[in-house]
Amino acid sequence: MKKIQNYINGQFLSALSKNYKNNSSPITGKIYSKFPDSDHEDIDKAVMAAKKAFPKWKSLGKKGRYNLLMSLADMLDENFDKFVEAESYDNGKPEWIARSVDIPRVSENFRFFATASLHFSSECHEMDGKAFNYTIREPIGVAGCISPWNLPIYLLTWKIAPALAAGNTVVAKPSEITPMTAYLFSKIVHKSNIPKGVINIVHGLGEKAGEALTKHPDVPVISFTGGSNTGKKININCASLFKKLSLELGGKNPSIIFNDANFNEALNISLKSAFSNQGQICLCGSRIFVQSKIYNKFKTAFVEKTKKLTVGNPKNKVDLGAIVSKAHMNKIINYIQLAQDEGGTILTGGNRIRFEGDLREGYFIEPTVIENLDYKCIVNQEEIFGPVVTIMPFENEDDVIKMANATKYGLSASIFTSNVSKAHRMSSKINSGIIWINSWMMRDLRIPFGGMKDSGIGREGGFNSLRFFTETKNICVKI
Ligand code: NDP
Repeated sequence: MKKIQNYINGQFLSALSKNYKNNSSPITGKIYSKFPDSDHEDIDKAVMAAKKAFPKWKSLGKKGRYNLLMSLADMLDENFDKFVEAESYDNGKPEWIARSVDIPRVSENFRFFATASLHFSSECHEMDGKAFNYTIREPIGVAGCISPWNLPIYLLTWKIAPALAAGNTVVAKPSEITPMTAYLFSKIVHKSNIPKGVINIVHGLGEKAGEALTKHPDVPVISFTGGSNTGKKININCASLFKKLSLELGGKNPSIIFNDANFNEALNISLKSAFSNQGQICLCGSRIFVQSKIYNKFKTAFVEKTKKLTVGNPKNKVDLGAIVSKAHMNKIINYIQLAQDEGGTILTGGNRIRFEGDLREGYFIEPTVIENLDYKCIVNQEEIFGPVVTIMPFENEDDVIKMANATKYGLSASIFTSNVSKAHRMSSKINSGIIWINSWMMRDLRIPFGGMKDSGIGREGGFNSLRFFTETKNICVKI
């Protein structure tokens, strides 16, 4: 059975404890590899390596780092197909999604941030001829990068790339649920010219290896993407050590469809927003609000389209693959049950799917649409993170703003209307970090990405990431 290894100081290592944990594929439900059950000693070893590698990596300068990161990006592209297959098998997502969304982004992250670092300028504040201040941004040191399982290598490299481009070295902890592509990544790093110790990948459990990273005194900066409850714990750990911290957390995002929206556009986009990646994207629109005049027509069309979505073997051109793990599948099924207990009506879906043959023990769920739930009920408040949406009518702008803003989250929202003034009015009143008008998930890597309220702290993306991964220093020169 394949054994995933940690990658520390340019070496592939088992955990110091020699313990391993099982890794299964959600497509078959079967164990197919093992990963190191690392703890604080492994993290410490990785941090020491990253600390030692830091001065040399920093002194390479922007251009030196740019050259190495661009060549790493080329090597990642040469292994594109391997990444696609591994990501789909480990996570359960359809291969075509890995091929069109996840894996292209891996090399793109490196190219984008390597290039951005060349364009990152400093500021000057002149004091009426008496003095001038120039403000520089310096790399901080060892960056800790912790990522979730839904877009495993896409999000891991979204953190590693800017950290490195800004001149830091990295210790990364991928999700224990999807460790395979991070391991493939470390194999490619090993073949590249990136000096040893610059990139270290430590596998293991969040509460053991992840927590050790956030508590390590020699890791002054942590970038975390994951659930809000985990983010809360990390925030507490980092606060006492005054670490710089970025938290990209959960969402319970509204899709708001007005009477005057382009009907088919709103229908197709909100469907995609509901069920892409099995509904396991932090940006998925999981609460659909439809204005009353078109509510019945929209609901009927949405349910019809949902019924036509295909679920199955991720190797085929299906709309939905498997849910990432048995525990997560059961959590989603429990929410569907809770929705019924709360008075909801299942319009379509609601069940686990059992296929014949190799996929029999796989974790598949029908895309599910639920009606008749109050906007304040638990199912409309908590993040389900699966192929489950609720649909609700609204009367007017005030009505829908109240409902859309009624959760503890504030990550993203989509607003569908043909009235530009209304779109702007609504955008200013929705408490979310990211708003899409007549669209969803149109991503530009330069934009500030992140959420309000329990959806996170700080913004990443573009120069925001480079600012986050650097320390600001002002130098005042008297004239
Ligand atoms: P978790 O919060 O469970 O885990 C995220 C990462 O943190 C994993 O690597 C996990 O390790 C690790 N971890 C867990 N506990 C700790 C701890 N105490 N200290 C340090 N690290 C820890 O999230 P999921 O993996 O379940 O991912 C789903 C969540 O991520 C959803 O809430 C989703 O909304 C959110 N997300 C947010 C995004 C955003 O940009 N805002 C984007 C994508 C997802 P392990 O896997 O071993 O437990």
